Amino acid sequence: MTIDAKTELYGIIGNPVAHSLSPLMHNAAFAALGLNKAYLAFPVTDIAAALNGLKALGIRGASVTIPHKQAVISYLDTIDPVAEKIGAVNTLVVRDSALHGLNTDWIGANRALGKIVRLKGSHILLLGAGGSARAIGFGLLEAGAKVTVANRTSEKAAALAADLGCPWVPLEAASKIEGDALVNATSVGMAPHTDQIPFPAKALINFPVVMDIVYSPLETKLLAAARVARCTVIDGLEMLLYQGAAQFEIWTGMTAPLAVMRQTLFSLLPKP
Ligand code: NAP
Repeated sequence: MTIDAKTELYGIIGNPVAHSLSPLMHNAAFAALGLNKAYLAFPVTDIAAALNGLKALGIRGASVTIPHKQAVISYLDTIDPVAEKIGAVNTLVVRDSALHGLNTDWIGANRALGKIVRLKGSHILLLGAGGSARAIGFGLLEAGAKVTVANRTSEKAAALAADLGCPWVPLEAASKIEGDALVNATSVGMAPHTDQIPFPAKALINFPVVMDIVYSPLETKLLAAARVARCTVIDGLEMLLYQGAAQFEIWTGMTAPLAVMRQTLFSLLPKP
C-alpha cells in the first residue's frame, strides 16, 4: 500500500497501545480492499488534546481503548444509544469536525455468539461484571436474550444486574444454573494464569454452547473442558474479530474482509 497525500488516517488512542493488534488487523483489511487508508497506534495521556488533534488533522476515525473508554464520552457531539447505556465508547467517527461515539464490543460479542445461538429469547449465563461483561450484557439485552450475571465480587454482580435489570448469582452458585450458552467475560484463564478456570468443568454440560472472550491463549482451560463436555465452543478471537469488523464497516461503509482480518489476528495470537 502506498501512503500519499490522499491517504485517510485512522488510529487507536489509549495507553498503553504498543501491544494492540488493531493496527495490523485494520491495515490488512484496508490493503485487502485496495483502500487508500492507514491505521496507526497513538499512545495518549491527554484525551482532550488528542480529540482536538483528531479533528484538527482530519483523522477520519479512531478506536478507543483503556483508560479512555469512559472519559471520551464527555467530549462527544453525539453518542450511539447502546454505547450511552453501556457508558463506554470504543469507536469514534470524525465528520465535519464533529465526534460521534459508538461501542462495537457488544456488536462483536453478539455476532460471535449469534452465529451459533439464536439470541432472541435465549438464556445466557454471563460470568464477570467488569467492563467487557457490561458491554456484552447490554448487547445481549439489545438482541432480546435473557441474562443472568455471576461474579466473584457479589457487590459488582448486583450493581451490573441492577443496571441490566436482570438476575445475578455469586460465582460459586453459578454451577446450579442451566442455559443456552455460557459466556466467560472474566479474565480468568488469561496468560500467565492459564491453569485457572472460572466455572466448574463438571457443570459445563448445562450449556450447549460456551464462549470465552479471553484470547490469550486462544484455547483456554474453560474451552478445553467445554470440548470434553461436548459443548460447541467459541474462542476469544471471534469477538475481537467482529468488534473490529464492525468498526471497519462503520468507517468505510463496506463489508469487512473477515477472512483476511481473522487470519491476521490468528497469526498474532499465542497458541498452546
Ligand atoms: P475487568 O473490567 O478488569 O473485569 C475483570 C473481571 O474478571 C471481573 O468480573 C473480575 O471479578 C473477574 N475476575 C478477575 N480475576 C478473577 C478471579 N481470580 N476469579 C474470579 N473472577 C475474576 O476486565 P475486562 O476489561 O472486562 O476484560 C476481561 C477479559 O476479557 C480480559 O481477559 C480481556 O483480555 C478480555 N477481553 C476480550 C475481548 C475480545 O474481544 N475477545 C474484548 C475485551 C476484553 P471481580 O469483580 O470479582 O474482581
